Amino acid sequence: MTVLLLHLPAGFEEDYPLALATMAAQIKSQQIPVDALNMGRVGLDGLVKRLDQGDVGLVAMYLWSPAGNARFVVDQEAIDRANAVIAKVRAHHRPPFIAVAGPFATLTPDNVDADAVIVSDPIATFGEVAECIATGRDFSKIPGLRAQPKRADQPVRNCPLPDRDLFPVAQYHRDHLPKGRCYTSVVTSYGCSFQCTYCPAPSLFGQFNARPVEQIVDEWRRLYTLYRVDGLLVEDDLFTADRNRVMELCRSLTQKPIGITWELLNGVRPEQLDHKLLTAMSQAGCTRLALSLECANPEILEKMGRSSDLAHVHSMTLAARKLGISTTGYFMLGLPGETREDRKKTYEMATTLKLDMAHFTQASAWPGCSWKKEELVDVSASERAGYYARFYLHPGRAKRVAEVLGVGVTQIPEMVGRLKRWMTRPIEARRTAI
Ligand code: SF4
Repeated sequence: MTVLLLHLPAGFEEDYPLALATMAAQIKSQQIPVDALNMGRVGLDGLVKRLDQGDVGLVAMYLWSPAGNARFVVDQEAIDRANAVIAKVRAHHRPPFIAVAGPFATLTPDNVDADAVIVSDPIATFGEVAECIATGRDFSKIPGLRAQPKRADQPVRNCPLPDRDLFPVAQYHRDHLPKGRCYTSVVTSYGCSFQCTYCPAPSLFGQFNARPVEQIVDEWRRLYTLYRVDGLLVEDDLFTADRNRVMELCRSLTQKPIGITWELLNGVRPEQLDHKLLTAMSQAGCTRLALSLECANPEILEKMGRSSDLAHVHSMTLAARKLGISTTGYFMLGLPGETREDRKKTYEMATTLKLDMAHFTQASAWPGCSWKKEELVDVSASERAGYYARFYLHPGRAKRVAEVLGVGVTQIPEMVGRLKRWMTRPIEARRTAI
């Protein structure tokens, strides 16, 4: 029996399927044959052709999609697309068993039509499901599945490192990464011990749980040596949660450099930064830092569980810039109680901070967060696209972004146009696109 992993590209740009690559590593460690398809490239016809080979006994997907870009339907969009794939698998003359994991499966398991929906510890639970299917054992009482007890969180050090062969790293490159480099995604920790009102990470991944520094360095060195990776996107929920750990990692990378640069792509809380930490990160190869800034209104920030110390935000962005670390700001529009005037101030903050890049996403009421959909302000896609256009089409900023991305400045308007088309595409296209 072969396990077939299906990658459903979800966002504006294709992410490296890190979770599926980790599931692949788990299955390989159990000596079960495993294969993978990128559905964005092969489509439903390619899937049927693969099933026709007759060896697939288990199909698995991991549902993830970027927050906010599809307004309030972001979760259902991913699930609708997965259900369309599931229907196709079921219609095959030899339908395999179907398992689905990932944030959307965890948060809204009853919306997924799969035979097994994995709601906790996806890697270990999926490994056990695969074992049952391969050996013909009953899987229905496995902890971690829908309607079964939650699986206790394991230390992440015990989780296998992602397999980089089924999803070759060279095939995944986003527009917002420097051209001519080989990038991939890594995770050094999961979870977060904060409780920001808008964020489902703590309910999805639990408390902060990190890999040991030596395991991280080994993985990064292996990626450089075996796969020629020279740039890493660190996709932790909150990389800076443990300052001592970051300092230890930086010391290790500075004492024995690998030849790799790294970028913190998920937003970091600015109040966790200080000059000493930024200096250590810069010396250890950190070249880009995304800051979770959200908005310019201190009152709203405090209600969200965020620091309202905007002076510190200014000081840290300036310090990062001086150290040669490029800065990206993540902002949310449509926050509870927000006015159009607030949004203008948020935009002004993005420009006065002299950020290299900025993102303006629609606030979403994810399952698992404490916001209610009714509290949010629905900001039109064209208003948000307007902020992007004003930010990136400014001659000075366009030049800087082009430098950061390693592209020609003339490509920036084309990229902004593509983003606008994606943001304003019809709702039906979002739900059915495979
Ligand atoms: S937004 Fe960041 S700091 Fe807040 S709960 Fe989520 S991961 Fe933690």
